[in-house]
Amino acid sequence: MPDRSDKLRELGLTPTIQRLAVLESLEKTNKHPTADQILHVVRKKFPTLSRATVYNTLEALTKAGAILRITVDPSVARYDADIGPHAHFRCRVCSTVYDIDVEDENTLGDCVDGHQIEAVRTYAYGICSSCLAKDASTTTASPNGSQSSHPSSRKAKAFLDEPTTPRKEKSSQRTSQSDSQSEKGGESPNA
Ligand SMILES: [Zn+2]
Ligand SMILES: [Zn+2]
Repeated sequence: MPDRSDKLRELGLTPTIQRLAVLESLEKTNKHPTADQILHVVRKKFPTLSRATVYNTLEALTKAGAILRITVDPSVARYDADIGPHAHFRCRVCSTVYDIDVEDENTLGDCVDGHQIEAVRTYAYGICSSCLAKDASTTTASPNGSQSSHPSSRKAKAFLDEPTTPRKEKSSQRTSQSDSQSEKGGESPNA
């Protein structure tokens, strides 16, 4: 394993204690942490480290190419010490970001429309294996056909319940603004 100080020097960065600490914390995880999560980890070792220092350090490491900033999570930047070609998958249930293998490497070094591809960042979204396993276990938990009264539609039901409850409240508020709602004044027959 190459020395982190050498790695930073090769990238033209002075290996300061902060940079080494941030890089180390990133290399020890595959969870693609946010800046705040990195701050939390690094502060265990360096309690006086400021948030600004960690943010600036991440910026410098990213610019130098020591780490990757990934935007698979639209709400927050995440960081990755694995700078090799790989894609990211974000679970929409638990928000975990996973490394995944895709065939993007095929295009590295290739020329597409005259442009030479040096890096490909693919973001994939869906439901991760552990969330699917949880879902499957609740589904299969229901016994044989005789007791199928509570199938896996629990989620769908809960989902349906949500819009109906606020809609009733809204309709009473809306009567002043919307003419079409006046029909609901006599309680709709479909309810
Ligand atoms: Zn998940
Ligand atoms: Zn990654």
